[in-house]
Amino acid sequence: MTQPDKKWQPLNVVVITIDTLRADHLGCYGYPKIATPNLDRLASQGVLFENAVAQTPLTPPSHASMFTGTNPNVHQVRGTGGFVLDASKVTLAEVLQQRGWQTAAFVGAPVLKRTFGLNQGFETYDDRMPEPDPSKTSLENPSLRAGTVVDRAVEWLDRHAGPKPFLLWVHVYDPHAPLDPPSPFRERYAGRPYDGEIAYVDQEIGRLFENIAKKSSPQQTVVVVMSDHGESLSEHGEYSHGVFLYDATLHIPWIMTGPGLPAAQRVKEQARTIDLLPTLLGVIGGEVPAASQGSSLLPALAGKPVETTYSYAETLYPKINMGWAELRGIRSSKWKYIRAPRSELYDLETDPGEVSNVLESHRDEAKRLEGELARLTATGEGKPAERVDMKSINAETEKQLRSLGYVSAGATKNLELTGKGIDPKDRVHILELIDEASTPQKNLPGPQRLRALEQALKEDPANPLLYYFLGEAYEKNNRDAEALKLYETAVKKKVTTNNRVFVRMALIYGRQGRIDEGIAAFEGALDADPTDTETQNRLAVAYLMRGRFPEAERLLQGVLVLHEEDAQAHNSLGWLAMRKADSAGAIRHFERALTLNPELMEVYVNLGMLYKRNGDLAQARTNFEAFLARAPVGKYRDSIQRVQQELQGLGRPGS
Ligand SMILES: [Zn+2]
Repeated sequence: MTQPDKKWQPLNVVVITIDTLRADHLGCYGYPKIATPNLDRLASQGVLFENAVAQTPLTPPSHASMFTGTNPNVHQVRGTGGFVLDASKVTLAEVLQQRGWQTAAFVGAPVLKRTFGLNQGFETYDDRMPEPDPSKTSLENPSLRAGTVVDRAVEWLDRHAGPKPFLLWVHVYDPHAPLDPPSPFRERYAGRPYDGEIAYVDQEIGRLFENIAKKSSPQQTVVVVMSDHGESLSEHGEYSHGVFLYDATLHIPWIMTGPGLPAAQRVKEQARTIDLLPTLLGVIGGEVPAASQGSSLLPALAGKPVETTYSYAETLYPKINMGWAELRGIRSSKWKYIRAPRSELYDLETDPGEVSNVLESHRDEAKRLEGELARLTATGEGKPAERVDMKSINAETEKQLRSLGYVSAGATKNLELTGKGIDPKDRVHILELIDEASTPQKNLPGPQRLRALEQALKEDPANPLLYYFLGEAYEKNNRDAEALKLYETAVKKKVTTNNRVFVRMALIYGRQGRIDEGIAAFEGALDADPTDTETQNRLAVAYLMRGRFPEAERLLQGVLVLHEEDAQAHNSLGWLAMRKADSAGAIRHFERALTLNPELMEVYVNLGMLYKRNGDLAQARTNFEAFLARAPVGKYRDSIQRVQQELQGLGRPGS
């Protein structure tokens, strides 16, 4: 079907997710110390849910809950990395695309890259991320500023808005650590960088709103602003999000405008991320997919009751990343029950900060909520532990990669959720040490930061994240040898859960000229995550250095299976084609690489060399000159000299 169904109102839908945004740090949620005029205005034009909560404090699982209307134990995206939304799940984008909507998404962080499956139903899914900059505070996974994400979305709006309605998802990551607001927000919120990032995001969203207004009138447009989770600002000894299930990280903002929605209405009923899908489809007039567990909140706007009594919550982060017990919980508007090695119960009405655990004095209430949790998850006393497959790849891609000869593609790790083990709340001193070491705001001298992490690892030696953080700290202090030893220990003891430790090992081996050991480490990284295209590209280059051309080629073909728009892979494949004297193939790959990324300098040199070899001196000159005009001197000093010589060798233009 290409045209929207008659029952379905062809409204333009804009979903903006602001990562890591606490509701209580917005003006419209009563925070006086910030200027968020654009979000405040949106709230005055529409509905604000005062008691909106996330199903999990983790980015990909929370977004999966919003877009499928299901809890994490149903959609099975249980963590950040290591999980892919299965193709069988039905997303908002798929529902609308099937009804004729144009769909586009612009995401601000690598944790939402298309390989994790949230791209389902999006015709455009822009997840281009900047190249990692080793001089920056974090060694990997650079994210985008809201300004860049909004620029891309605005450009899409300019190009694409036509007669068909559109679904536009814009994800901005800025309030997520590391906190570094741009000027003038840095100065305006000096000492409060979290607020500075939020105020900056508000400005950029205001710019997005202006551009949406040019394309779509308020009568045609539904706008939702929501966050995937909050941020603990030291409450309960947590300095980020992911470890606990308190409202510091589960309470989120949710603001919504659209035709038929009242202005300046504040809703007190509990609203869950799983309710987004049915609520949005309620406004549009479409049917809700059968799998959805959420409820439309539209009746609540007319003062009618809604079925949002129980909000499920879980986090597997402590289990997967820290080696502790996972947590599950259930929340009503009055109670929060957390199932932990030592379970907790809070009365949210009298104790919204969840400070006093009243489980002992409210045994019946706890028992009733435990019963609801057991019913929702089929877990609990007397039930078998839930088994979870960690797998970074979906079935279809796995099949394609296997056909290229990837034997390890689709390796599965099993996780057994017993709810037992170290209670995360008994390890808050470890969180404290991590925070001391990693928050630039604390301004600790380097050696003291290292000591904090060394101390933490001594106390908690089975905690994978500590190897990761301490190794990073060693590397930043130019102590590669110690970092490498630590990573090797993590691999030997099998405490590592993700591929980054292998990648970092490989990069250190590379710096030390130990190419073959680097290759082995990259291969280890790909065993852990066969979808990591950056590592595939790096490994391919290492294979090329060792003359292992067929292996490099197979790997690069695999990259294109995962992500056809990978400029680096096209460049390397072009080089391989050139080597086999396949000029047409080489030109095709190089041109594609440049279309995808005109800033990939190596391509100009490769194209120049290829044209020169083919006797097309004019084209050779054009590419060499393009390289010289663009290449930063600092990074390309040697290549610039070589290319200048090549240019001289071509003789005068026209001669
Ligand atoms: Zn997030």
